[in-house]
Amino acid sequence: MTGTPVALNFSTATRGPRGKPPRHFVDLTPEQRVEAVTALGEKPFRAKQLATHYFTHLTSDPEAMTDLPRSSRDALVADLFPQLLTAARTMQADGGTTVKTLWHLFDGAKVESVLMRYPNRSTLCVSSQAGCGMACPFCATGQLGLTRNLSTAEIVEQVRAAARSLADGEIPGGPGRLSNLVFMGMGEPLANYKAVIETVRRLVAPAPDGMGMSARNITVSTVGLVPAMNKLTAEGIPVTLAVSLHAPDDELRDSLVPINTRWSVDEVIDSAHRYFLTTGRRVSVEYALIRDINDHAWRADLLGEKLADRGSGWVHVNPIPLNPTPGSKWTASEPAVEREFVERLRAHGIPTTIRDTRGSDIDGACGQLAVEEMQRPTGPSARLRRDGPSIGNTGVSVPEESA
Ligand code: SAH
Repeated sequence: MTGTPVALNFSTATRGPRGKPPRHFVDLTPEQRVEAVTALGEKPFRAKQLATHYFTHLTSDPEAMTDLPRSSRDALVADLFPQLLTAARTMQADGGTTVKTLWHLFDGAKVESVLMRYPNRSTLCVSSQAGCGMACPFCATGQLGLTRNLSTAEIVEQVRAAARSLADGEIPGGPGRLSNLVFMGMGEPLANYKAVIETVRRLVAPAPDGMGMSARNITVSTVGLVPAMNKLTAEGIPVTLAVSLHAPDDELRDSLVPINTRWSVDEVIDSAHRYFLTTGRRVSVEYALIRDINDHAWRADLLGEKLADRGSGWVHVNPIPLNPTPGSKWTASEPAVEREFVERLRAHGIPTTIRDTRGSDIDGACGQLAVEEMQRPTGPSARLRRDGPSIGNTGVSVPEESA
């Protein structure tokens, strides 16, 4: 990976104490929840009551658990629902319908999530890792290096918090429901496979053991970790797969998405195609359009050919105008170039939609807030800022929901 020494210094210097987050109810299977409850001297059915409070009423507040005896509530909550996330800062855009939250984790690690409400759906963008080890040079999070994987409960807690604020009517538009989830915050979800897949299981499980979301409304976005993509294919959970391609040729992709040196463009496209063949779910290809870097007409043609060669109807492309930050050497493509790129893909029969990006007036972005905090005056972050690669900006990207 490029920039490894810088990234390692940085993440070591800013990492909190090593270790796992405290045990949380959400990390346990339904059987383990019963065991944990009985170990505290409670009746087994308390586990279901707790699950209902958490996944259906979206709360772990003992005050709300009026169907449990007072003394039991406090003991159960103290033991099984440690506070994993603390909101350190929230920012709003789009009239309050886009809300970005910076969370501090138990060990001082920081992640973000972004809630975007639309007239007919609400989408949450969650983080699966603190930082990211993939080192894509145009992505803000990629410059941080990996601090650590999040646990299942740390990811689900981001979802619960967002679902709760919608239910409580905190987002303009009246009380609402969280309908969609995208793993497009900080981190590479397939590099934290187990916690991510367990998160998906919790979210799609029906009440009382889960939130009852539709798997089709959950998008897992990856740089293209082929073995993990193949594993996901075999799970039989119909989540939407998004692949961050950004270049149709290995020469360029090796530098934009460094893990490409391990799994090439063709291997990634083949794996994505198999995902479609097995699950019937149309795959989404993400392509950040970067001026004069990857936006050439011939690259649109090459991408169109490579995708169309595998068949029709299996994929659509979401070009995303690059979200630059001041200091970044890269910027978004010219509108005319962007149009041409889209037209060429369509001419190859590939459905293509420019992705609507939200929240640009709050620095757009998954990755951005955490970067700001870490860049305060002194310390290794300031050094990274000067010496490191240019800092991009991960846009709040709203996928075309095809489900
Ligand atoms: N690691 C996963 C999820 C990351 S973010 C992945 O790479 O797919 C989700 C999307 O935002 C990815 O497609 C990522 O490439 C894109 N992205 C990152 N930085 C961006 C930027 N500065 N502008 C536009 N899109 C960006």
